[in-house]
Amino acid sequence: MRKINEIFYSVQGEGAHVGEPAVFVRFSGCNMHCPFCDTDHSEATPMNDDEIVHAVCLYPARWIVLTGGEPSLWIDDSLVQTLHRATHKTIAIETNGTNHVPEGIDWITLSPKTDVNPTRPVIVQRADEIKVVDRGQDLEQYFSLPQWKPGVQMYLQPCYVEDHEQYQQNLYNTVRRAMADPRWRISAQLHRFLGIP
Ligand code: SF4
Repeated sequence: MRKINEIFYSVQGEGAHVGEPAVFVRFSGCNMHCPFCDTDHSEATPMNDDEIVHAVCLYPARWIVLTGGEPSLWIDDSLVQTLHRATHKTIAIETNGTNHVPEGIDWITLSPKTDVNPTRPVIVQRADEIKVVDRGQDLEQYFSLPQWKPGVQMYLQPCYVEDHEQYQQNLYNTVRRAMADPRWRISAQLHRFLGIP
């Protein structure tokens, strides 16, 4: 059984595939415990692989996005193979990179949090994009990651907070930082502006 927080259909709001419809499989629990995390890790439903496939197949999206929490804690080669074989969809993962991810994942979004917990280094084998939550930290460190290579797009994402004024300030600060260093693109979390999950 795998620890599922929710499975839902929406539109990718972040990174290179922004705007593409996707089925999100959100796993519960994470090994980083970031103070700004917006996932409720206490909520979880145990589901077997057949149940996950059934829930995913309710939707016509081309993409499955494995997210969390930290999905790499709960998935293995078997689930990835089953999802590919049963759904014929393309599989993406959003990971903090502190674990290896199974073979066969089609798109890896690395969202490193090593500045929050330096005792857990990034070890994931590759990144197709790197997405950093902007909290005012040093940004140069991310260009030293072994997963960063020319051609791997770097996304800077405003840190979401409930307080509207603070969030507006965070948006402004992130835009300002990206404009000052155009190696970054903004990942604005389109779903928040559309008012969808
Ligand atoms: S790494 Fe991501 S999912 Fe894990 S605690 Fe931090 S923000 Fe939440």
